Amino acid sequence: MFQRLRSDFRLSIITLLGLSGFLGITPFAVLRFHQGDVVTGVVDVLILCGVCGGVVYAWVTGDTRRSGLVMAIVASFGSVVVAGLVGDPGLFWLYPCLITSFFLTPPRVAIAINVSAVVLMVALGDAFSGLEQMGSFVSTALVVSACAFVFASRNEDQRRRLEHLATIDPLTGVKNRRAMDEELAIAQAHATRTGISCALILLDIDHFKQINDEYGHSVGDEVLVDLVNVLRKNTRKSDQLFRYGGEEFVLLVPAIDGVGLKTVIGNLQQLLRNHVKHPGGSITASFGVAELDWGERVESWLARADDALYQAKETGRDRAVFAEPRIRAVPQSA
Ligand code: GH3
Ligand code: MG
Ligand code: MG
Repeated sequence: MFQRLRSDFRLSIITLLGLSGFLGITPFAVLRFHQGDVVTGVVDVLILCGVCGGVVYAWVTGDTRRSGLVMAIVASFGSVVVAGLVGDPGLFWLYPCLITSFFLTPPRVAIAINVSAVVLMVALGDAFSGLEQMGSFVSTALVVSACAFVFASRNEDQRRRLEHLATIDPLTGVKNRRAMDEELAIAQAHATRTGISCALILLDIDHFKQINDEYGHSVGDEVLVDLVNVLRKNTRKSDQLFRYGGEEFVLLVPAIDGVGLKTVIGNLQQLLRNHVKHPGGSITASFGVAELDWGERVESWLARADDALYQAKETGRDRAVFAEPRIRAVPQSA
């Protein structure tokens, strides 16, 4: 549970806001019923249900986008209704909602929710004791929203940049090993759920060090970039390419069988020969291929592909070795 809260920022925000909403609104809901104001009490209870429902939905489905949107809408428009019922004390509730919208939804959506809530509050008009109060409310609500918008947009921009830095290999522009670990876990979970297997092709350029030594590191870099461009252009949209290490790449190929894999490898070998050149000629590569076994863990899947690549190198390079399926434990007979 704490692991999930730590790794999923939006889930932690949803949980925190859900908890604060529950603690903040519950006493008022009780007070309304105690004062005999059943309508406002019911509205408070509905807001509570929306907020708590959003938290539960986010935890169960992992869909924080949808639950965040529902919570922002319920809280903002709920506040407008409460302000319409109880008058100006209810106005204060809209301010935290105007800010939390930006934590729960993308900045553009949040600004749309906020502007709609303010317009609705003004259109209903019941919450205000006079024109001056209405003007002050509109001005302050817009200032709060504008500041939150600028802050949230910058935050979103920085988050995207950090994510890019953390997951993209700067030389070739493909996803790095860190991103690969996540994608392999997703692919493994998908295969377990659907029964549709997928395969890993581990590719290592042959004698790459010689290219660096003979023509310089920058030529080696160009070879890596050319290789990635060729692979990107000639693989399916659903295939994913990662830089595993220096001159090693992983191609994750979903929904493919052994025959399809042999065709893919044959094509790749041709492409490298014809299109990835350096001053001394073209490159070759060795391939380790492993289809995901039923129930297999990612580490074992990757290790089988790695062993297969090792064998391809050991047995002469410029070839592909297909990993054997895992040896299953045979139950001991008594
Ligand atoms: P093998 O056929 O056994 O794979 O031999 P190899 O020379 O390809 O493999 P080795 O592991 O001996 O050398 C890999 C080289 O890749 C060594 C390292 O300097 C080079 N390398 C790693 N990353 C980069 C990079 O980003 N750019 C360049 N130009 N070279 C790199
Ligand atoms: Mg290598
Ligand atoms: Mg190599």
